[in-house]
Amino acid sequence: MLQLDLGPVGEAFPEAALDQLQVEFQKTLGLSELKLVSDELGQRSHNLRRIWQRAVAWRADYRPIYLDNRDKHSLRKVRSYLQRLRADLEIFEGRRRLQGALTIRSWREAEGAEAQRLAEELLSYRNQTWRRSLDSINTELVDLSRMVEILAGEDRLDQLADLKDNQLKPSLERLARELTRLRAAGQLRSEELPAAVVQELNEALFGRGYAIYEEYQTIRPGKGGLYLLAWQRLGLLQQREGLQAEALRELQQLEALYPPLASLTQKRNKELARKAERSLANGALDLVMLSLLTLGGFFGLGWQIIRMTQHQLAALARLRQQNELILSSAGEGVLGVDRQGKTIFINPAGARQLGWEQQDLVGQSYQQILACRGSEQNLFDPISRALQQGSCHRSDEALFCRRDGSQVPVACVVTPMHNEQQQIEGAVVTFMDISDRKAAEQTLRRYYDRLAEQEQALAELNKGLEQKVAERTRLLEEKSRQLIVTQEELAHAEKLAAIGSLAAGVAHEINNPTAIIRGNVEILQAALGQPGDYQEETDEILHQVERISLITGNLLAFARKKNLKRKDFDLNELLEEILDQVGHHISIDGIEVSFVPDNEIPPYHGDGEGLRQVFTNLVINALQAMGETGVLAISTCFQNGQLSVQVSDTGPGIPADIQGEIFNPFFTTKDNGTGLGLSVSYGIVQAHGGSLEIQNVQTGGACFNVLLPTEG
Ligand code: ADP
Repeated sequence: MLQLDLGPVGEAFPEAALDQLQVEFQKTLGLSELKLVSDELGQRSHNLRRIWQRAVAWRADYRPIYLDNRDKHSLRKVRSYLQRLRADLEIFEGRRRLQGALTIRSWREAEGAEAQRLAEELLSYRNQTWRRSLDSINTELVDLSRMVEILAGEDRLDQLADLKDNQLKPSLERLARELTRLRAAGQLRSEELPAAVVQELNEALFGRGYAIYEEYQTIRPGKGGLYLLAWQRLGLLQQREGLQAEALRELQQLEALYPPLASLTQKRNKELARKAERSLANGALDLVMLSLLTLGGFFGLGWQIIRMTQHQLAALARLRQQNELILSSAGEGVLGVDRQGKTIFINPAGARQLGWEQQDLVGQSYQQILACRGSEQNLFDPISRALQQGSCHRSDEALFCRRDGSQVPVACVVTPMHNEQQQIEGAVVTFMDISDRKAAEQTLRRYYDRLAEQEQALAELNKGLEQKVAERTRLLEEKSRQLIVTQEELAHAEKLAAIGSLAAGVAHEINNPTAIIRGNVEILQAALGQPGDYQEETDEILHQVERISLITGNLLAFARKKNLKRKDFDLNELLEEILDQVGHHISIDGIEVSFVPDNEIPPYHGDGEGLRQVFTNLVINALQAMGETGVLAISTCFQNGQLSVQVSDTGPGIPADIQGEIFNPFFTTKDNGTGLGLSVSYGIVQAHGGSLEIQNVQTGGACFNVLLPTEG
């Protein structure tokens, strides 16, 4: 209605149709849902009626604006008015020029005073005020035409307003003023350049009832006018959008009433069927009674009987018609079967959903539509149950069969039909195509499946991540353990280096006085002459000086940078030499010495003198630890690219609490020990890239293991 032609509204609001619908529902009394649906329907009709009225009003508003707009927007009118004014002006000027020419001719022919008067008239011609008015009218008209052309091509409303407010309007006012002046000077006849044309120009451009604010020259909206028209038209078009949206909403809500209407239809159907049966029964009774009366001679009442019967039949026909109307307008499929299972009726929606023509399905067995023949669905036959047991059956998801054999999922309710004697007459099947719902469910299921897959993938990813984190943590812990060990080694090395440099300084300082003491004691011995005189004392001094030299030598060995003098030698031979020499210095009578060399070991490339010192230290320590008896065991072997020398004894072993300290310089548990043997040995082995390990053996005693790499 809002988009069609803008002629007067021809059709009226379909009040009657809505009222009729209401009335139809009112007839079905006793149904509780009816009130709700009826109220809802009433509310919707009321709203629709209101929208209709507003739409009619809108059309009334829009029509003149639309027509005005169509007329004026082209500016045809304005152009023609301006053309007319310019034509009038040219005619007027032509006339004035002709008049001037005639005056000049008269002046030429005239003589005396007349010639003088005419000459003055001709001279004053150019100076006259009306002449200036004429020029400015000409200018204004040219300006106006130019501006109107701009106006016609311009589509920005703000620029139009500016052009009109500040240029067009003043120009028109000047034109009107000059015309009035010209007319007042008696130069214009009434039909020449009529003032009405200026008025019409004003109205065409600014609309009827326009007025100007004096201070700002701003146009106050009157009726019509191009600017106002455009503005109003826009407003009305927006109103139209609003109305259409509202109407659409109402219609959608009306559509939402279909499902409850369909269920009401079914109930109404039953009600009407019962009424019809009652009416027929009553009709038949009346007929019998009236027949008796007729037989009794009341022929006069015959006509009355026939009329009543006709009324009953007409009522019945009306009921049937209403029945059919309701059935055909229902959105659900409604199918009726008789006791034998033959289809006796189907409504259009049902036939459409099953792909049958209504008339073709009537008379067919309901088996035609109950699932596909041969499929398992046949096992579930709610219609035959309803026909046999007289009970209602409801299925939210059954399969019906279309005429072309394809299946359609439906939600259905099967209700048995009883006659007055409560015998089963047939059944009514109400069903609704749920393909859309099923499709939506399937899509949803697919989404769920995908979600589950993604969750599983995520869980696996998490598991992998956890494993990686655990692995990384283990590696980090290992690295940090190595770091701690390295730090400890570094600290130890730094400590040794500091002690070493201090020791070297002290040893160096002690060496000189020791040499002086030794020299002087020797001089003293020579001076004393007799071997018995103070021999013991001077020998003791020399012995202690020797000892001091030994200590300082050890100190210097410890502190000295280990510049190894490497060459190939046999480690087994070196060890045998050491054992021989030690025997000369220390008593090893009560000691059992066991040397088990590995004869397969390769020659070792190292500093033989340095290593001699190491093994001598270890052997002496072992012998000192054992005292007079015990077993000193020495063995060599070669494995994994390393030479290994083990020196073990059967002494008391090394207590656990001092194992970390025995390699520190000056650590000793012996009364006359220096505590430098192991620390010097440790330094020499390290300089060879090897290691010196200590372990207690199970039988008691200590075992030192020297590992020397042969490669790199
Ligand atoms: P010193 O022999 O002068 O004491 P060392 O550096 O050679 O200096 O030894 C340091 C200490 O290590 C010894 O005092 C001793 O307590 C311990 N030690 C070394 N070897 C053994 C061993 N075979 N059995 C028991 N203790 C030992």
